[in-house]
Amino acid sequence: MNINESNNSKRVLIIGSGIAGLLTARVLSEQYEEICIIERDTQPQQPAPRAGVPQSFHLHQFIPRGEAIVQRLFPDFVNDIKELGAFELQQATIQMFNPFGALPLGNGEGFTYSRGLLEWAIRQRVQALPNVRILYQHEVIELMATPDRTRVIGAYIRPRGQVEQRIEVQADLVIDTSGRSSRTPRWLSDLGYTLAEDEYVTTGIGYSTRNYRIPPEKRNIALVVIDPHASSGHLSGGVLKAIEDDTWAVCLNSAGDQYPPTDARGFEEGLARLYNPILAEILHDAEPLTEPRGFRLPVCLRHHYEQMKRWPAGLLVLGDALCFFDPIYGQGMTLAAIEVETLATCLQEHKGQPNFEHYVLQRMQDAIAPAWWRSTIEDLRWPGVTHIGPEPLKGVTLLHKYFDLCLRISTQQLNSLAQEGKFEPQYMSYFLMNWLFISPRDVVNPRMLEMYLQHVSPAEKEAILADLREGYNQDLETLLDEAVPPFAFDFGSAAEGENPETMQQEKTTTLL
Ligand SMILES: Cc1cc2nc3c(=O)[nH]c(=O)nc-3n(C[C@H](O)[C@H](O)[C@H](O)COP(=O)(O)OP(=O)(O)OC[C@H]3O[C@@H](n4cnc5c(N)ncnc54)[C@H](O)[C@@H]3O)c2cc1C
Repeated sequence: MNINESNNSKRVLIIGSGIAGLLTARVLSEQYEEICIIERDTQPQQPAPRAGVPQSFHLHQFIPRGEAIVQRLFPDFVNDIKELGAFELQQATIQMFNPFGALPLGNGEGFTYSRGLLEWAIRQRVQALPNVRILYQHEVIELMATPDRTRVIGAYIRPRGQVEQRIEVQADLVIDTSGRSSRTPRWLSDLGYTLAEDEYVTTGIGYSTRNYRIPPEKRNIALVVIDPHASSGHLSGGVLKAIEDDTWAVCLNSAGDQYPPTDARGFEEGLARLYNPILAEILHDAEPLTEPRGFRLPVCLRHHYEQMKRWPAGLLVLGDALCFFDPIYGQGMTLAAIEVETLATCLQEHKGQPNFEHYVLQRMQDAIAPAWWRSTIEDLRWPGVTHIGPEPLKGVTLLHKYFDLCLRISTQQLNSLAQEGKFEPQYMSYFLMNWLFISPRDVVNPRMLEMYLQHVSPAEKEAILADLREGYNQDLETLLDEAVPPFAFDFGSAAEGENPETMQQEKTTTLL
């Protein structure tokens, strides 16, 4: 029997207490009697990066959809991060540059903070839930299954470093949120399951991050983003973000195996070489608090568990353990949050149906598929980056040109409208797509193309249309239609009284 056919669901075992694991515990604590999280790291004693999450020293930005989910799950979240010293954006500026100009964002609202502080705030709330227990310094080493291997019934764990030990933990549901190092593929193979083909992008991502003390006279600078843009030769981007403790976290990022320097001098030179020198100017007299620290991510990976013909009852996978993206687009934590919401919805609507866990994995694809597609299309701009997967992507060159047009016209229009004190939400569509509020199909279509083209001369319009069609033998409408897969986009949180366009008009800058 599928455990979810039973109404008295009892214990859930969650592997890993990163963002995905903690949010999952919060949601399931309402549905199950006991939640047990197994975490290989030691219990954090303060908001700080952790060994088990090596990327946690690096700059993490929550795109608004993810932050909205966290605020729904933890109504005191804003107070919590404020008390922990998150940087208050009021009166501080947010600047976002791309090769076509700057976005007119002005002052911000809300808070910025480090990944360590975010996770700490969530952890304190989850640890306080009466039916949640986190067992630190233990790792999950294997899944436990019924003799016929159709159902996962727990896991074997051991205290960290004690290889001779093997402790049995039974559970009605096991959820793997162990991040990029997930061992689910091996565990499934060991249980005799045939895996579906994974999808990869050989992104070759490099980050280098250094912290600086914010000089008192520059406390009005909260966030500066210089987007890389490989198609126009700008292979490196940079971000400065104010976090807690009077600190700016500053990173250089790149892809396509173009790794940013990790020595102090090279880092400063890298900042000065960006196509906009603003970061070097802001930081020229700032006191460094750390040495630059590097991070490399050779590939991005999407497991296609939803395509497997057989999937064991009692097992789910969430967060980076299911799919991890190019971090430059800041989508990972938000996708984890959306997946957790999807799980909560499925538990409310479909708990007890046959193949429930496989159904949940399929539903999660509604959000994963457009995000993965979008970041893959962008990554393919970098020299040497390739996509390896069951389905080849269509119209990549056309899409690069199309998205360049979107970015250029949107940037220009938002600026000229801002000068007149006006705002037209359609020019935010490109950004709302990147922030997972709307489907790529809402941006890539003949109607939107016509809207962008009304801002160029007739001669330029003809040239753009000819350029978009170049190398293809079909009409543009068909090309655009075929280039974007038919996503079943899950608007989730945006649909619940948070119309992204209204939200955008009201608080433009908080969308960053
Ligand atoms: C350089 C970089 C920058 C990023 N920037 C952003 C950003 O700006 N915005 C954004 O949204 N995302 C960003 N991301 C992505 C983000 O870090 C991930 O999407 C997010 O951390 C995923 O959370 P998770 O809980 O799935 O995995 P993780 O955070 O990796 O957590 C996994 C947990 O599982 C534990 N664990 C692993 N194996 C075991 C085991 N066998 N037994 C017990 N415990 C185990 C680990 O110790 C860890 O605590 C970035 C990623 C990188 C690499």
